[in-house]
Amino acid sequence: MPRLIADRPVLHMTSELGRVMAAARARELAGERVIHLERGEPDFDTPPHIVEALAKAARDGFTHYPDARGELTLREALAEKLARENQIHAHVDDIVVTAGGTHALYLAIQCLLSAGEELLLLSPHWMALPKLVGFAAGAHYRTLPVYLDILSGAWSPAEFGERIRAALKPETKGIYLNSPNNPTGAVLSREHLESLAKVAIERDLWVLADEAYEHILFDGTKHVSLASLPGMAERTVSIYTMSKSYAMTGWRVGYAVSPPAMRPAMAPLLAFYTTHGVFPSAQIAAREAVKGPQAAVEQMRAAYEQRRGLLLAGLAGGTAVHAPTPRGAFYVFADVKAARGTRDLWALADEWLGFGVAVLPGTAFGPEHGDRVRLSLATRAEDVAEGARLIAKHAGVSPHRTARDAERTTA
Ligand code: PMP
Repeated sequence: MPRLIADRPVLHMTSELGRVMAAARARELAGERVIHLERGEPDFDTPPHIVEALAKAARDGFTHYPDARGELTLREALAEKLARENQIHAHVDDIVVTAGGTHALYLAIQCLLSAGEELLLLSPHWMALPKLVGFAAGAHYRTLPVYLDILSGAWSPAEFGERIRAALKPETKGIYLNSPNNPTGAVLSREHLESLAKVAIERDLWVLADEAYEHILFDGTKHVSLASLPGMAERTVSIYTMSKSYAMTGWRVGYAVSPPAMRPAMAPLLAFYTTHGVFPSAQIAAREAVKGPQAAVEQMRAAYEQRRGLLLAGLAGGTAVHAPTPRGAFYVFADVKAARGTRDLWALADEWLGFGVAVLPGTAFGPEHGDRVRLSLATRAEDVAEGARLIAKHAGVSPHRTARDAERTTA
């Protein structure tokens, strides 16, 4: 037999989420009920006016080869949105419409990283990043844990800048930033971003700013786009997607905004030769999403905020699961060290699945997160509440506590 999967490490990587979902599916097939707190997929339907726009565009004949850069009318609408909401003033030729945020990240990473160069992933990071870097031949990544310390308020902006500066190596060419952050829900303040910008300018780095959750913010928290800060537009690629804001995960529409210096490669080479652009009717509908009524965005945001309250309230009584309050995105990155005890994190995930709750082990988001699991709020409020109740009941005070925990609770 010929070798059918080439000898490149990225082609042999596995997915933790895939493993959890397969285990959950097996239990469902066996007739058990599973509450899905592992997935990051909005459970809402795409707002009807966007669906209608797709149907109309298809009837109107937007069914031919697209402009690989994206339909001009969509890029114009995006340029307006970027100026209005993100304070990013981009030329339409520096916006590339992509098959979701994942494809936008893929294009940017392909464009930016040469062999031997390193991308510093601020962590915990979205689990696709190691694979996306793996596709860039000869490039590599390293992780730097930051978001939990920012979320807890432990790091001032100056300290954040110092930590990044101290982590840089000569081969570090760029930083991957994701705010609001999946999975912690940390949202970087303007001051924290200014601190990162200072280091990026001083060390001549570029930054990939993944703003997939820009509209999902709690407690009145404001989102600031890195590329809006002085001196950053020329070294930042900003990544956006329709997936989360408009519950359009299946439509595969996102976009990247990059500096003019990247224009010759991003659309004519990378977008063209990966997908040859995005289905034009989906782009016309995406334009409707951006320009049309925004009430659904706020309704979904408010629903995630309500579910956050349910989850945190449900877990509040337990001593073995500590859930830090997210400021945005739709996840809680819970500390399960006491519940895990001396076991492997997967043993805990299997145990929780056994009482009907699927969660994603924190190691999917970087090797440092073996004491964490991600709990998703992208599922019905009743399920979030029931999931929290089950966790509190079965894992709240754990039989697997470490000796030290036992001492602490008996003292
Ligand atoms: N960035 C982050 C941080 C994400 O969590 C996701 C999806 N889970 C994406 C980008 C990409 O989403 P999509 O490809 O659906 O736009």
